[in-house]
Amino acid sequence: MKVDFEKIFTEMQDGLYVTDTNRKIIYWNKGAEEITGFEGNEVVNSHCYDNILVHIDDKGVSLCKEGCPLAASIADGQHRSAEVYLQHKDKHRKPVRVKTIPMRDEKGEIVGCAELFTDLSNEKAYLLRVKELESIVFLDTLTGLFNRRYVEHFIETKLSEKERIGIDFGVLFIDIDKFKNFNDTYGHNLGDLALKTVAKTLNANMRSYDICGRWGGEEFVVVVCYTNITELNVIAERIRILIRTSYLDFDNKPLNITASIGCCLVDAHDNAASIIARADSLMYESKKAGRDRVTIR
Ligand code: GH3
Ligand code: MG
Ligand code: MG
Repeated sequence: MKVDFEKIFTEMQDGLYVTDTNRKIIYWNKGAEEITGFEGNEVVNSHCYDNILVHIDDKGVSLCKEGCPLAASIADGQHRSAEVYLQHKDKHRKPVRVKTIPMRDEKGEIVGCAELFTDLSNEKAYLLRVKELESIVFLDTLTGLFNRRYVEHFIETKLSEKERIGIDFGVLFIDIDKFKNFNDTYGHNLGDLALKTVAKTLNANMRSYDICGRWGGEEFVVVVCYTNITELNVIAERIRILIRTSYLDFDNKPLNITASIGCCLVDAHDNAASIIARADSLMYESKKAGRDRVTIR
């Protein structure tokens, strides 16, 4: 196997730069760009003491002139590691753990030094936390689909897009048929599995700019963007068929559910509640007409 070290160095999250013995920077990876804000072309060929990262220790003492771990490693060939504070391009200070690795040629002469540095700031943890909070606020726990709150928020943004540039969108209101019977007959766990299966079917068959969410209980909403009534009907029919042809296993017997769907396009006077109410009442027409069908207007 041929290992592509260059690619690994370029793509890894940690920062890596390499200098010659005069501490002139000759290599600067993507991780270094992300941690410091400086791009390779801004730093390659300058010296690491040229007012770029200006490492300080936790007492505020500048390390560039005296305590530079890189210079020390070049001088004595020893590895070093230290926790220091670098200066980001935007001027704030970031804690990093640096490790210096002297580099030698075939004769054993030191020809330069690599500095590997790891971001110790809690920025990444913070971003992960924001993502986690977003999922708590906007995702439905059973199905992983968007929840009602997010669907409403999304419809609001689509309404303002319609007002600004006149782009139409549509809504599908999907209600599982006779689901109370299903639970009573096959149990709540299989009911949950049926809901998750519908959710996966919806998610897998969504165009990238459309969204689907769980409105509540056994009700789902799909927001179909950039569309017209003919296309909306095709999408709704396809979803209806995909739901009724997804088979669960009950005692080795295939078991399916059906759904009734109501759908409509946005109109000029709509707000989020009115468009959902219209799709919901069209869904009820599908129920009255015998279920497992689409009503569109
Ligand atoms: P219809 O065809 O008229 O829609 O009949 P339905 O039985 O589906 O309608 P109804 O509103 O009477 O009942 C909805 C059922 O959905 C009742 C409830 O037990 C079930 N349900 C709602 N949420 C969940 C859930 O999270 N898990 C499971 N397993 N069942 C749920
Ligand atoms: Mg219902
Ligand atoms: Mg129902």
